[in-house]
Amino acid sequence: MSLKSWKEIPIGGVIDKPGTAREYKTGAWRVMRPILHKEKCIDCMFCWLYCPDRAIIQEGGIMKGFNYDYCKGCGLCANVCPKQAIEMRPETEFLSEEG
Ligand code: SF4
Ligand code: SF4
Repeated sequence: MSLKSWKEIPIGGVIDKPGTAREYKTGAWRVMRPILHKEKCIDCMFCWLYCPDRAIIQEGGIMKGFNYDYCKGCGLCANVCPKQAIEMRPETEFLSEEG
């Protein structure tokens, strides 16, 4: 859809194809980053179940970590984790690691 002005935006927005959210990497929006403390994790998969962005990586029922391309840092996974195995840390702590 190409628009010449905001007046052409239809009510409800410009999402003209459903199910396209995965085409856009949304990880850059993140202010807080989830960090997994695997030694505490019991692979209950609550985090995977509740993550609104499907950013939990699991293989065969084992929690493997996070897909930071899509994780928005909402903290829901840390909140539902029964073992406090996920810690939310400020993104600013990781700036130097990524240049
Ligand atoms: S912080 Fe939010 S988006 Fe990121 S992995 Fe946890 S639940 Fe998913
Ligand atoms: S919710 Fe916590 S304990 Fe359960 S799989 Fe996720 S990190 Fe592991």
